[in-house]
Amino acid sequence: MSQLFRDEQAFVDRLFGAESHLHTVGAFEGANYQATGYYRPQMNCLMFTRHDEFCSVCSEAVSQIIDLYSRPAPAVGAASAATPP
Ligand SMILES: [Zn+2]
Repeated sequence: MSQLFRDEQAFVDRLFGAESHLHTVGAFEGANYQATGYYRPQMNCLMFTRHDEFCSVCSEAVSQIIDLYSRPAPAVGAASAATPP
């Protein structure tokens, strides 16, 4: 991480540090490189800041996708047995 990003994150940490909703899950405006019109699930989220960890909502979504794609493939014939005629 460059010094610019570390400085920016330090600024955000000071800015958000005293906020009562810092760990609240909700809809916080500002995401997708836009200040308005897009919402992130927590104040300090990779979708908005240079934070080095996913927020709790993003962590759960990433875990679900990893689980989805890391499941073993269904056995041959298993899908057709479960499909109604
Ligand atoms: Zn997030």
